[in-house]
Amino acid sequence: MIQFSKQYLTVFQSALFKTTSTVVEGDSYILIVDPNWLPNEVEAIVEFVHKIRNNRELYILFTHGDFDHIIGYKAFSDATIIGSKGLQKHPDKERKLNLIKDFDNNYYIDRYYPIEFPVCDIVIEQDGQQLQLGDSTLTFYLAPGHSHDGLFTIIEPEGIWISGDYLSDFELPFIYDSATSYKETLQKSKQILQKHSIKVLVPGHGQTTEETDEIKDRIQVSENYLDEMIEAVQKDDIEALGEFEKRMRYPSKFTSECHKENIEIIKREFVIGK
Ligand SMILES: [Zn+2]
Repeated sequence: MIQFSKQYLTVFQSALFKTTSTVVEGDSYILIVDPNWLPNEVEAIVEFVHKIRNNRELYILFTHGDFDHIIGYKAFSDATIIGSKGLQKHPDKERKLNLIKDFDNNYYIDRYYPIEFPVCDIVIEQDGQQLQLGDSTLTFYLAPGHSHDGLFTIIEPEGIWISGDYLSDFELPFIYDSATSYKETLQKSKQILQKHSIKVLVPGHGQTTEETDEIKDRIQVSENYLDEMIEAVQKDDIEALGEFEKRMRYPSKFTSECHKENIEIIKREFVIGK
């Protein structure tokens, strides 16, 4: 379904995990971000792009290499692929592809396109790297923490910030990569708000927002969560840690595993490593 639509920006939302797929229409290009999940949902994005394309160049940006975000890669045959150096050199490509195959097998899902790991044509190596697409300037920032290969993209003058698996309106930080990096990425988020004129933020899961205060709140909620978690882990405060798990909006086996993983990573970085 379409979650958000305004002039040049259309955000699709999957029925699964509220995962977003973004389509940005430029004067001479179409940029698709993380086309995803179910075959009919990917098909709807393909059809939408086909309808509006009008001979414009096609680009696909991957915010990171988690399987839910790369699942629709090969549904588009003639796109130029953009991703971080971490995505390009991802150490677990085979495992990510197996997660897609397992998912499809578990639910008897057929896809009309092959399942492959994205090969980047344009590789983002460093913060502030830019790409000119027609009248738009894309500025990239490396965003590790959730995953090592995360990428923030700012599109100007439109003022669009594609944040990947950060700054969701409902999903608390899932660390996976590094709590220290996650905190640094949140610091970077504050600098991005100062440096760029952001008009709209699109997270990888959940609601798009045009409110600056809402974006600031989301950064703050993530920061508070991490700081409080770190404190509780350092104090080995079992009761407090149990409370954190209850903050998850959709408590499940999945969120419980994520919670345990968060604790393990924080222990490694802030207790054992000290
Ligand atoms: Zn995700």
